[in-house]
Amino acid sequence: MNILSVASEVYPLVKTGGLADVVGALPAALLPHGIKTRTLVPGYPAVLHKLKKRKKVGGFDNLFGHSATVFSAEINGLDLLVLDQPALYQRDGGPYLDTTGRDYPDNFRRFAALSLAAAEIAGDNIISGWKPDIVHVHDWQTALTPIYMRFGSAPDMPTVMTIHNIAFQGQFGASVFPELSLPPEAFSVQFLEYYGDVGFLKGGLQTATAITTVSPSYAQEILTPEFGMGLDGLLSSRVDSLIGIANGIDADAWDPQTDPHIAEHYTAGTLKRRAANRRALEERFGLDKTPGPIFSVISRLTWQKGMDLVAEVTDDIVALGGKLVVLGSGDSALEGALLAAASRHRGHIGMVTGYDEPLSHLMQAGADAILIPSRFEPCGLTQLYGLRYGCVPVVARTGGLADTVIDANEAALSARVATGFQFLPVTADGLRLAIRRVLRAYSESKVWARMQNQGMKCDVSWAKSAERYVSLYSGLLAKG
Ligand code: ADP
Repeated sequence: MNILSVASEVYPLVKTGGLADVVGALPAALLPHGIKTRTLVPGYPAVLHKLKKRKKVGGFDNLFGHSATVFSAEINGLDLLVLDQPALYQRDGGPYLDTTGRDYPDNFRRFAALSLAAAEIAGDNIISGWKPDIVHVHDWQTALTPIYMRFGSAPDMPTVMTIHNIAFQGQFGASVFPELSLPPEAFSVQFLEYYGDVGFLKGGLQTATAITTVSPSYAQEILTPEFGMGLDGLLSSRVDSLIGIANGIDADAWDPQTDPHIAEHYTAGTLKRRAANRRALEERFGLDKTPGPIFSVISRLTWQKGMDLVAEVTDDIVALGGKLVVLGSGDSALEGALLAAASRHRGHIGMVTGYDEPLSHLMQAGADAILIPSRFEPCGLTQLYGLRYGCVPVVARTGGLADTVIDANEAALSARVATGFQFLPVTADGLRLAIRRVLRAYSESKVWARMQNQGMKCDVSWAKSAERYVSLYSGLLAKG
């Protein structure tokens, strides 16, 4: 079976969040099932620079006003297709934001072009001798693909649309519609029209053959007004086509036995060796070498991630004898509040602003617990890395966090299955209470070590989830 996966980011080339991790790791997990994936991504500078060895496999004379080339290339076993159209993708700045942090004003065009290219590759002979059986698209940036296929290149080919975060919907003014090269009926409530605007995600969800999201709990949650962000009604009408499949992690890139970014390797049987990673972490963040748990935060600094709640409990963590290390960037007010806490509590709270993949590995290996107080969380990956590294997750009971962490309640502790802490409500007081529970468990070293062990035993790889994608794909082809 051949899959064309279409995405706006892919690890290890370009990543702003979990979407890139998933798009980068799923193909390898599908391969043993006889499923071959080619992944189409835009030719951003970061992509083209890292892919020196590439081969032209196709092109477009006129894709949104410019010619474009499709290259094939390989990295880490990923079979990539790169859409090179310099006018749209060769820019300083990130995949979505310019160097001042603002959305590129032509994002609708940049990602409509990616979607149209995908649809043409699916349907036409753009890449000679290759055609997918199914097209799998991710988030709003690629959500027009099923629409372009429906109205043109491949009306009958099955499509899967995965929602990684329903908060990002790609909503643009109606004035962009004439530029999208779609027939007028596409601007209707059955397709793109969304409260008078053009809704990319909305159109994709209306049109894709199947819809997935990245955990079973989030699939339930987005059917409600509280979490559905305006799309709960649409999703309820498509509930028969909606399924939640939890993400796995790249278990090779995230392995405390081989991780090149940590100070000392260890296993569940040699947890004492984590001490060297703790020391390296204390050095890196300028922390005092005192006992007590080190909490970590590795996150986008946003309201969604509950970072205001972390800022509110910093004094409590220190008063209770804990320490805190924070790695993240985002909202400048939240960044300011956390930096202020770090300067109030020198030696107990450290913060690094920005994005630092190697440091994020050392934090999982050296900290005792990872705080994830998200107000909503489609799946979440950092709790899965935490489980694998013996860095006990402390999570809000929502979405994928609720699905992947077993709370250390009395029943779970006596059955010896607890892997972390869940809390509700997602408020500063809820988090404070959870931190007190952590401190209590940490003071009983046997209880703590058992939780670390349970976590490290969990299978957080892609194996199980890949099987669910296999049966979804097979079902679609069988229906076809
Ligand atoms: P989201 O995609 O909503 O940001 P996820 O938990 O699904 O959240 O994925 C976040 C990914 O980004 C994880 O791999 C996490 O380790 C990584 N990450 C987040 N912030 C940083 C940072 N400042 N530095 C390094 N890695 C980060």
